[in-house]
Amino acid sequence: MLSTMQDGQLSIATLLRHGSAVHAGSEVVTWTGTEGRITTFAQVGTQSAQLANALRGLGVTGDQRVATFMWNNAEHLTAYLAVPAMGAVLHTLNIRLFPEQLTYIANHAEDHVVIVDGTLVPLLAQHLPTFKTVKHVIVANGDAAALQAPEGVQVHAYADLLAAQSTEFDWPEIDERAAAAMCYTSGTTGNPKGVVYSHRSIWLHSMQICMADGMGLSSADRSLVIVPQFHAMSWGLPYAAFMSGASLIMPDRFLQPEPLVKLIEATRPTQSAAVPTIWQGVLAHLDAHPADLSSLREVVVGGSACPPSMMHTFAEKYGVHIVHAWGMTETSPLGTLCRPPAGLSEKQTWAYRYTQGRLPAGVSARLVGDGGEELPWDGESVGELEVRGPWITGSYYRLDEDGEGTEKFDGGWLRTGDVGTLTPDGFLTLTDRSKDIIKSGGEWISSVELENAVMAHPAVAEAAVIGIPDPKWDERPLVTVVLREGVEAQPEELRGFLTDKVAKWQLPENWAFIAEVPKTSVGKFDKKVLRAQHAEGKLDVRHLD
Ligand code: ADP
Repeated sequence: MLSTMQDGQLSIATLLRHGSAVHAGSEVVTWTGTEGRITTFAQVGTQSAQLANALRGLGVTGDQRVATFMWNNAEHLTAYLAVPAMGAVLHTLNIRLFPEQLTYIANHAEDHVVIVDGTLVPLLAQHLPTFKTVKHVIVANGDAAALQAPEGVQVHAYADLLAAQSTEFDWPEIDERAAAAMCYTSGTTGNPKGVVYSHRSIWLHSMQICMADGMGLSSADRSLVIVPQFHAMSWGLPYAAFMSGASLIMPDRFLQPEPLVKLIEATRPTQSAAVPTIWQGVLAHLDAHPADLSSLREVVVGGSACPPSMMHTFAEKYGVHIVHAWGMTETSPLGTLCRPPAGLSEKQTWAYRYTQGRLPAGVSARLVGDGGEELPWDGESVGELEVRGPWITGSYYRLDEDGEGTEKFDGGWLRTGDVGTLTPDGFLTLTDRSKDIIKSGGEWISSVELENAVMAHPAVAEAAVIGIPDPKWDERPLVTVVLREGVEAQPEELRGFLTDKVAKWQLPENWAFIAEVPKTSVGKFDKKVLRAQHAEGKLDVRHLD
């Protein structure tokens, strides 16, 4: 028996129409360095129609790809909505990728148009001659004349182009399973791989973001979106905002701790999201320049493990509640988010809060052991996490043409490459990425656990742990430490600090003080670089007996 329910498509056009009408007065605040430039959701709606008309005028048809090379701002949000709503596919280019990777992804996705921020024109100009399929570049928030385009590429000024367009667009009816947007993983090994989101996956994921046990985003919120729009779709916040009516605060290129803190004080966000390294930087800045963060009801931290010490400092010094979440580009990205069960003691609640969080109904999971066997959810058995669900990718874009990446999929499950445990009530604790695991004398040492323990020491700003070859144990951990400014500490003291926190055989004997932990294009610890530095003898390692 079929249901009697109507079968409307879950499309980005629906979100666009809803947000710009029902939440017409909600705002996008784009930071200019000194103040917020305000665009209402109604204006985003109008400008989306103009952008869609302009793109049609430039020949964008069907599911052609329209790329963005932009910071987080109102114009980028407009592209997020207009491009999929007109039936084309938005491709967010990660401005921080290595040149050869950017060339690869623009050509692999066959981008037809690139919309670029004025401040990023010099960077794009370096890559543009290698982009084979791009015919048009639209320069927003800057001077189009500054771009010397290669032959065959036309350059347009965003504001002039839009001004000439109608403010109405007849948004087509689109199959909810059609491609809406694509994002490439940053490709720690091999070429970046394309993940293609559908209208439906974005809709369902947005609902999860808005759920109380998700990010709880609502029309009462002002969301400060620090996660770049070129990194895993800003964790879904732009679309969830158009669904819920939450206002958006966009930092544009002002992502350093000092302007971020200024922006928080000036625009009073209620909610925010970013990787831990951003918040570590903010904390270090606040040490010397205390500020009022009290507008923030909560901050979602994910992308890499959130050190418990950071959660405590934010809570105790600044009254900011951190919520830990886990996800990947491949999972839209929300995979788990931490809302501890009710009725527990403070200590028990904190123990839950350190975990990566709980599985929502839309994400099914299993843990798989070394021999391919499924492991129990007992909070102890450690295995690789595999997930599936309607906002989790089932393959990579055009994978069959380059072959790489098939190993990530296992009979309908995505093999995450993340290793950890699940509790009977569905809370995930990650101990490592499979490629970062340290195997010492046949036993696993969790680099994440060691890092968290070291980072709890007051002298430590950042710590990253890698495995290094050891003649006796095969591998042993090497702790690389960045000390806080003006503070001294010795390896003996740091190791002493760990004695009651980790098992004796896990206590690290190899330590190196470094000026900075190398970071990936999206601000995570880049252990591949650390391992290479160690292999090349560039780290000054102190070995304790
Ligand atoms: P990249 O592979 O370039 O880092 P993603 O942003 O898709 O790209 O990263 C996803 C990965 O980030 C996950 O597979 C996991 O290893 C890591 N990650 C995300 N959130 C967390 C978290 N809360 N704790 C630990 N690791 C995390």
